Amino acid sequence: MIERLADYPDVNIVECDDVMSVLPRLVCSGNILLVTSKGFVKRGTVSRLLESLGTDRVMVFDEVTPNPEKSHLQRASGDFAGKGIQQVIALGGGSVIDAAKVFCGLLSYPNYSLDELLSTDVVENRINLIAIPTTSGTGAEVTPFATVWQSDIGKKYSLYGVRPNIAVLDSSLTNSLPEKQTLYPSLDALSHAIESLWNINSTEQSREYALYAIDLICDNLPLVLNNPSDFLARKNLQIASSAAGMAISITKTAIAHAISYPLTMQFNVPHGLACSFTINSIINIFGAEQLNLDSELASKVQGLLRSLNLPNEIESYVSWDILLSELTTPLDPSRAGKFIINFEKLNVQEILLVAKA
Ligand SMILES: [Zn+2]
Repeated sequence: MIERLADYPDVNIVECDDVMSVLPRLVCSGNILLVTSKGFVKRGTVSRLLESLGTDRVMVFDEVTPNPEKSHLQRASGDFAGKGIQQVIALGGGSVIDAAKVFCGLLSYPNYSLDELLSTDVVENRINLIAIPTTSGTGAEVTPFATVWQSDIGKKYSLYGVRPNIAVLDSSLTNSLPEKQTLYPSLDALSHAIESLWNINSTEQSREYALYAIDLICDNLPLVLNNPSDFLARKNLQIASSAAGMAISITKTAIAHAISYPLTMQFNVPHGLACSFTINSIINIFGAEQLNLDSELASKVQGLLRSLNLPNEIESYVSWDILLSELTTPLDPSRAGKFIINFEKLNVQEILLVAKA
């Protein structure tokens, strides 16, 4: 099944059942930076990885937090500068892979600050990057962008141009994920696929990736939610996540993501929930045809989303009253502007009100 992703030109996709068995042949002979989060240290994954690669040449950064902060990454990068790092390995979810992309950018341009890199149109990565995703959602293992945040002023930034050279897909790393960490990333992947269809940059190739991802998610997400030990379904969700990542690598995301960022910034709503709870509402308001969606596909997606009762999920982070009255941040035009319908004519309040209903 992974063959459907094999023609993706930019990232070497390696599918396996045990990352430790393939990693030694993928790493370089020089110094390596391993970027991960504390959980993988606690679970022993990091020590297994160090055992297989040799501890003397691997530096570990395990302080990645969700929605990584710009100032934190800039400070941390000082520890690796001048250490002759030739390769970065990212083991974790989207935030870990995004942080690793930022470090690759900073290591590629040792005389640049992160602010300078973020204001560069496209960064040319000179450090080999291996991404090992441990959630199935962001597609960061195949995309050329990373998101970093500055929460004190409520801003998010994108770094462009750092794409992993290798993505190792070992779905056994996702087998023990709890329900929300399975559901929200899958919703993110679904949103990526849909957003790349109702997108001004949509191409034949991006549509192919997106439709493949949507089919896999609609068929396999309910199976995993019913039976978390359905490992074949988990494998399919991981493939879907990469396929959706390939789709947005071509198109970028659109209106549902533009609406999501203020929600994450102001109310801490997890990204996958924040970028998916408006999808049904957007389809209801504009209709499948205007959105470049096949009507059968639209109703399949809507059926899945309805069954998940996302308006209720939102309530566990922010009450609808507060959300509707206090969501004030304007839409990011770099995302909203990719929507197939002119976003300046959109009424976000209406989209939210229909989503709530
Ligand atoms: Zn997303």
